[in-house]
Amino acid sequence: LEKRTVELQVEEDGGKNGKEPFCSQYRCGPLLGSGGFGSVFSGQRLSDGLQVAIKQISSDRVQQWTRLPSELRPVPMEIALLQRLSEVGGHGGVIRMLDWFEVEGRGFLLVMERPPQCQDLFDFITERGALPERLALRFFRQIVEALQFVHAHGVVHRDIKDENIVVDTRTLEVKIIDFGSGAPLKETAYDEFEGTRVYSPPEWIQARSYGAVPLSVWSLGVLLFNMVCGDIPFERDQEIVMATPIFTRHVSKECQALIRWCLSYRPEDRPSLEDILSHPWMEGGEEEEEEEEHVSLPSASL
Ligand code: ADP
Ligand code: MG
Ligand code: MG
Repeated sequence: LEKRTVELQVEEDGGKNGKEPFCSQYRCGPLLGSGGFGSVFSGQRLSDGLQVAIKQISSDRVQQWTRLPSELRPVPMEIALLQRLSEVGGHGGVIRMLDWFEVEGRGFLLVMERPPQCQDLFDFITERGALPERLALRFFRQIVEALQFVHAHGVVHRDIKDENIVVDTRTLEVKIIDFGSGAPLKETAYDEFEGTRVYSPPEWIQARSYGAVPLSVWSLGVLLFNMVCGDIPFERDQEIVMATPIFTRHVSKECQALIRWCLSYRPEDRPSLEDILSHPWMEGGEEEEEEEEHVSLPSASL
């Protein structure tokens, strides 16, 4: 049913602005996943067989619109943010947008790269349970570095969580996806939030206000806990505002310390992204990672 909807919408894409129409450039395959804002299909670029992901965004579900200098009509913020990050050359840790199309009056199609063998981190953790610290570290470092790039180019993601990370299961490279809750980065506080509540910090729950970096760092704390324990630390608002994660399995002292620092109740007590990268737990892994080049992970678990 979903797929028919896409085909239907695609027929109406007339190839405006000198662009070839979507359907003459891409083939749409099976559904990869659907979240709050649309459906994502796997697909292929016809010219060279490149594997892509195609996100269908319905206009009526778009929360924020903005303008692009090159376009007369408003576009979803998600497209503008990805465009901004792609224009500056992109980053290995951030999904690259290859193309986008407006489907007259109905919505948008966003074409992204897709690692040929990938799984989102939610499914990855669901399948394997808690990750070994070494693997969690490898993923976490890439995610923090990618976020540095995102912030450096004036964007805040605001929905960092396992579902919004894709893992290339051959190379163990990870990429941040889904900028649908993102915003331009600013110094002042934000008073709206469309991200995921169980990843949101106490100041949002209690005061409906937050700064970009403390928000990102809190969600990184939730994500790291989730990776090493196999589940998120807080479900209820009351637990979030207590800001006291309870470790459900063995986690090293250094890793626990980093998680607790990211999950500091007061936003000003949390580390910066740079602080995270120079934390002893992050540095401790470097020697081990070199070993890892030779010791491949058990193939049964990949
Ligand atoms: P939503 O905004 O609805 O949450 P997402 O952009 O997060 O939509 O995509 C939904 C799901 O589709 C993701 O959780 C992931 O499983 C899959 N997905 C999205 N983009 C890609 C991509 N570029 N490559 C591989 N899988 C993807
Ligand atoms: Mg998502
Ligand atoms: Mg989203």
